[in-house]
Formats: sequence, structure tokens, C-alpha cells
Amino acid sequence: MPELPEVETIVRELAPRLLGRRFRHPRLSHTDVLYHTNRRKVLRALDGSRVTGMTRRAKHAVIQLSSGYRLVVQPGMTGSLLVYDAPLTENQQRYAVLQASLGSGETFVYRDVRRLGTLLLLDDRSWEAYSARIGPEPLADDFSVEAFRRAMAGSRQALKKVIMDQRKLAGVGNIYANEALFIARLDPSLPANRLDAAGAARLYRAVRDILAGAIRAKGTTFRDYRTGNGKRGSFQFSLKVYGREGEPCRRCRTPLAFTHAIDGRATTFCWRCQAVVR
Ligand SMILES: [Zn+2]
Repeated sequence: MPELPEVETIVRELAPRLLGRRFRHPRLSHTDVLYHTNRRKVLRALDGSRVTGMTRRAKHAVIQLSSGYRLVVQPGMTGSLLVYDAPLTENQQRYAVLQASLGSGETFVYRDVRRLGTLLLLDDRSWEAYSARIGPEPLADDFSVEAFRRAMAGSRQALKKVIMDQRKLAGVGNIYANEALFIARLDPSLPANRLDAAGAARLYRAVRDILAGAIRAKGTTFRDYRTGNGKRGSFQFSLKVYGREGEPCRRCRTPLAFTHAIDGRATTFCWRCQAVVR
């Protein structure tokens, strides 16, 4: 599913095309993507509303509306946010879950082939409450190594699981967790509270570097992810471990190991480079 760099890319590309524009004639093809809201509320909040802001929080794209609501989109594995310049083709129409006219022949679309994403509609108060439950943004200027250490210190769970826990740290998912742990040379199964100061400093830097690098590459496209301009990201060509199980480690040439045992997700690592540096 799109992680921080992918959603950041979508937001950066779409914001200039949406800011100040007005949604008209919104349509919703399915309601199964709605979370704690309903069709009537979403259509009413959108219709005639101007876009007054567009930002990212964790893995969510947040579209601020002049109606006072925020449309919060978490694109699932097959979800994307797009602006089409021409009337939608039959195929485009088929997967357009939410669409609204922007005028001048343009259409805003949330496309989701398998409808694994989530749409929320939140007023100021519920947005603040929602956002308060999410951990700090790893790329924020004021996110310090001390704050990172504090987030890790309280848990005995595997490091990999903890950096992907959205309540502890915002926006990191499976791909970038694998990559950051390799760069920091840390065992993904290390209990987070056993991370020492040096390891925490390496992982803090690795998480920030990997996310910033992936944003520069406009994200990682394995299958469905597309940027806000409908293009593929290119960070898949820079991945050091994710998806490379059995291939030689880029640092020591040992074949990379693979397991589901840590958190039920695919973990690829080098048992030599990421051996217990405890
Ligand atoms: Zn290695």
C-alpha cells in the first residue's frame, strides 16, 4: 500500500491542480470505501466546495474543503488520486470510485480498482482527534532523534513492527521499514526497547534518508501505485532488500534471507550485516 513517499508525491503533484478549485456534481460509485460516514454526507460536503488546502499526514492525503470538512484519503494498494483533462473513458469510469467535476473539462477522481482504500470525512474537531492518535511525522523539522528513541523505548515488540506502528511513527510501511533496517544494520526482530543509543541514531537517520530519497524518486511502483500525474515512481530501482530475497546483499554479497515470522509481513534482510548488533 502507498506509504509516506507515495502519498507525499501524490499530494505535491495534485495540490497545484486542486487548490482554489471547486468540486461540482460529485459522484460516488460505491460506499464500501467510506469509513464512519455515508454517501449523502460526502456528496453534500463536496458539492460546491472549494479546495482550501491539500496536505499529507502519515499515509493519508488530506483535502481541506471550504465547507469546513476534510476529505481524508488513504489510497489502498490499488488506489490513486488523479485529475483527468478529458472526459473519462469507459475503463477510467469503471474504477472511478469518487469523482467530481472541476470545471474547464477537468475531473477529480479517486480511482481504486479493488477498493481497498479508505475515505473519511472529518470536521475540524474529529480531524484533530484523529491526527492526535497518529505518531510524529518522521520528516518534520522538529522530529528529533530523542523523540525517535522515546517512541522506540516503550515497546518490547520487534523493531520492524514498532517503526511500522502508525501510533509510534507516521507513514512507514513494509517496504521502507525493510530498507531502513538494512541501512541501519539492525536485526528487524530486535526488541525495540533493546535498541541502544548508537542503533537508534542510525535507524533515525536511515528512516529519514530512505523516505526523503523515495520522495525524490516519486515513490515505489511495483504494480498499481501511480503519482498524482498518473506516472510510475522509480524508487523500486533503488531498493536494497525489499523484494530481493535470495539475491546477494549489496554490501557483503551474502544471499538475502526472507521470513514472515517477525510480523506476518514479508521481511527481507541480510543475516550477516543485520546480525545482532546489540
Ligand atoms: Zn550483507
